Amino acid sequence: MAQRLTGKVAIVTGASKGIGAAIAKMYASEGARVVVNYHSSEAEGKQVVEEIKSEGGRSLLVKADVSKTTDVKRMVSKAVGKFGRVDILVNNAGILIAKDFLDSTDEDWDRVLDVNLKGAYLCCREVAPLMLTQKRGKIINISSVSALAQPSALKYPDYVSSKAGMIGLTRSLALRLGPEVTVNAICPGTTETDILAWMPQETRLRIAGETFLNRLGKTSDVAAAATFLASEDADWITGEVLTVAGGRGMR
Ligand code: NAD
Repeated sequence: MAQRLTGKVAIVTGASKGIGAAIAKMYASEGARVVVNYHSSEAEGKQVVEEIKSEGGRSLLVKADVSKTTDVKRMVSKAVGKFGRVDILVNNAGILIAKDFLDSTDEDWDRVLDVNLKGAYLCCREVAPLMLTQKRGKIINISSVSALAQPSALKYPDYVSSKAGMIGLTRSLALRLGPEVTVNAICPGTTETDILAWMPQETRLRIAGETFLNRLGKTSDVAAAATFLASEDADWITGEVLTVAGGRGMR
């Protein structure tokens, strides 16, 4: 079968585990050279790079905190230094602080917004000039069903605000960066990764029951959608929000 991302260079933020790791591996299997960004999980990042290599793919492991401008600049510069261009950016890095609203602090709010929303903004701002010069690029923002009108996903206001902000960022940049660059968001439903560490089993079962398909998401479900949006098959799609949630969060 033809590979859909042959010759492309992709940066996937927060790619040492979970959804980001699945996207990085699927992109590599589709022929892309992939910058695997990590922040703190170096061993897991190395493992992703090793797995890509063992399948015959090419990747580069880069440490960067996406909420820091200097880190983002260094990451993009390393990507260009190694692979010469950037065709695809996936803003996947994200955190959730599982605290009740009334217990949350200024620092919690700042950290969640800084990583989830400002991080995406900084990465877009750094790669956009390259993509505009290349006259082609794809940006994919990993938002969440919590940004949609899904009552049972609205628990953490800082997280929800950051993910809703990513949808605004997606639409605004789709307008600004077209026609050269497409910008789309994916809203995953609850997907089995470490970010769910706080969630009791009974909540997982309830959420699975809220889907039409009676299960939680797999990281490969989200990676498949991100691969489609990065491919030429999605050339006429921009400013859109794709929900990948088994029917939960349907609008
Ligand atoms: P995860 O915790 O397994 O992965 C998050 C990744 O982000 C990790 O690799 C982590 O190291 C990285 N990261 C955190 N802070 C960072 C920083 N400052 N700089 C760079 N990287 C950083 O969680 P996941 O479920 O794979 O989450 C991936 C994305 O999907 C997140 O944006 C999350 O909000 C979103 N999402 C997840 C779910 C879910 O149910 N798993 C649902 C909707 C949306």
